[in-house]
Amino acid sequence: MGYVKGLKCRECGRDYPKEPLHVCSFCFGPLEVSYDYDAIKAILTREIIESRGPNIWRYKELLPVDGIPHVGHHVGFTPLVKANNLGKILGVDKLYIKNDSVNHPTFSFKDRVVAVALSKAHEFGFDTVSCATTGNLGNSVAAHAVQGNFKSYIFMPATIEQSKIIGTLIYGINVVGVNSNYDGVNRLCSEIADKYGWAIVNVNLRPYYAEGSKTYGYEIVEQLGWKAPQHVVVPMAGGSLILKIQKAINEMYKLGLIDNAKTSFYGAQATGCSPITGAVKENLDAIRPVKPNTIAHSIAIGNPADGHYSKEAIKESGGWADDVTDDELVEGIKLLAETEGIFTETAGGVTVATTRKLIESGKLPRDETIIICVTGNGLKTQEAVIDKLNKPTIINPDIKEVDKIVEKQKNETAMV
Ligand SMILES: *Cc1c(COP(=O)(O)O)cnc(C)c1O
Ligand SMILES: [Zn+2]
Repeated sequence: MGYVKGLKCRECGRDYPKEPLHVCSFCFGPLEVSYDYDAIKAILTREIIESRGPNIWRYKELLPVDGIPHVGHHVGFTPLVKANNLGKILGVDKLYIKNDSVNHPTFSFKDRVVAVALSKAHEFGFDTVSCATTGNLGNSVAAHAVQGNFKSYIFMPATIEQSKIIGTLIYGINVVGVNSNYDGVNRLCSEIADKYGWAIVNVNLRPYYAEGSKTYGYEIVEQLGWKAPQHVVVPMAGGSLILKIQKAINEMYKLGLIDNAKTSFYGAQATGCSPITGAVKENLDAIRPVKPNTIAHSIAIGNPADGHYSKEAIKESGGWADDVTDDELVEGIKLLAETEGIFTETAGGVTVATTRKLIESGKLPRDETIIICVTGNGLKTQEAVIDKLNKPTIINPDIKEVDKIVEKQKNETAMV
């Protein structure tokens, strides 16, 4: 195993060795993992992939881990759900939900990136792992740190959702709430990486970490019957996931696993933190950083690391981007739950509501295949909906009280 050639600067193309590096020392461009695709093409087939276990490591030749993965053996291969009920409401026949709200073990797509990052951290010989998180990443680094017997420190804005804090504390590791938004936490973590020499998954291991997101794309293609989808709607925080789904589809085409890679990409953000969608819509050259103000905390990154590249990828693919208000995202959460029985978090609400907006404005064609990327679980962001739901009806254990409820329900349906 081991098809990684090294790291390459996205800007100037300089090559770097397989080390815990993330920026080019000549031009400060981001580094990306590069592979020996000829060697992979010579051995990898659909049949080999299909013969392997239902987890991200079925695509191991395309991941930057040389030996046996150290953690995350059950991550990935989440359902691709044909969304007939939601499709009916939106007027789309071929609508699918890629449902990472049930990813193992911490219920978001971040388990994919962390499984790769911590397996790599082990190969590099780190004993302490860390991250700057908007919530889900911290949950996942903490859980995998325990699996892999690392020490760990998780840094998060002090004001994120209760369930995301508890979902990190439960693993008994070091949790630090910082009085700042994510962008401040991230800057602090860059200093920590320099001073303490820890593996900070989204700082000094970022090139390796980000590759884990490709598995979300490989799975969509495989689950569609080895076909690239026509349209994919993706929530964006730093803008990495959307780029890596695109990279995944392009790689599969390059390796001869699929016949074409003509996929259009659509980015979704909350209006209260929309530096990338804003730049697409206004056709700006540069991303303007913003101060986040939205309940969609998991995607509230005001200065997105991959903002520029994701904006370019969206435009080149023939896609588009849009954003929705906090009220609209709550409607999106409820719409998905009430039609498909899937309870997603605020980021998923953003993606569903943005998809609806893009369909209604004609940017997404109703007669083609559309994938909605649901990346996180609604039980982690209950604050978002708690005041927007009916209260349960409380009764005594008496059948007559049930009769009253059923009668009332009948009358209400009759009135509609
Ligand atoms: C982190 C996150 C994203 C966005 O990821 P990026 O790769 O930073 O754009 C989307 N959805 C959820 C639930 C997340 O936690
Ligand atoms: Zn460079």
